[in-house]
Amino acid sequence: MSPVWVRRRGSNMAGRVDAGSIAGAQAAVLDGAGLCAGSAPTGDRVAKIHAMDWAQLKSSASACTACVLHQSRQQAVLGVGDEKAEWLFVGEGPGAEEDERGEPFVGQAGKLLDNMLAAIALKRGRNVYIANVVKCRPPANRTPEPAEAQACEPYLARQIELMRPRLIVALGKVAAQNLLGLEATLASLRGRIHQYRGTPLIVTYHPAYLLRSLVDKSKSWEDLCLAVETMKALKQQPAVPN
Ligand code: SF4
Repeated sequence: MSPVWVRRRGSNMAGRVDAGSIAGAQAAVLDGAGLCAGSAPTGDRVAKIHAMDWAQLKSSASACTACVLHQSRQQAVLGVGDEKAEWLFVGEGPGAEEDERGEPFVGQAGKLLDNMLAAIALKRGRNVYIANVVKCRPPANRTPEPAEAQACEPYLARQIELMRPRLIVALGKVAAQNLLGLEATLASLRGRIHQYRGTPLIVTYHPAYLLRSLVDKSKSWEDLCLAVETMKALKQQPAVPN
């Protein structure tokens, strides 16, 4: 049965974040370098990926053998959606269905993510882009190893550079830790505005976790409300020129 994302009444969505509080929070938050422990990608490889456009990224990830995950993948899953989106949602890595279909967040977790998006008036592919920390499926859906996440990091970093989203939502601990470059519990990272290289970032639960832990759906709704209010405030700020 499909999960149902229920919009809770009585949330403190209105007025929770304004532009001033974002500026204050930005000064106080952790500035994620986006790297975690592991073997570093070579400078030459990083420089090459850093110069790629979207088409080159897709073809490069498809042929990538920089970590062991390439050995068991059916295909690399770079991401899906609007490449000029203001909203970027980042998960952990492709699962079996994603590996087969070449799109992130399909199956039950994907349906729940779509419902979460709908609850805040968003839709996959419409001003929304969805990506993962690693582009190839970890065997048996295990958590990506730090070295694998680090090997794949230049792809996500370049996607974010090209996209220039206004706001990043990290779905789950693995995404949050890798984007922020720190070890911390998901609970400690929720409820505040972090930064990924100057882009505000909010942390919430991974939809696959929410399928197993219905009680945390209400907390996830609070996170989405924070994201919506943060986006509203960001839109009131002057646009940064390209
Ligand atoms: S997970 Fe990333 S780094 Fe590893 S093989 Fe796939 S594309 Fe390359």
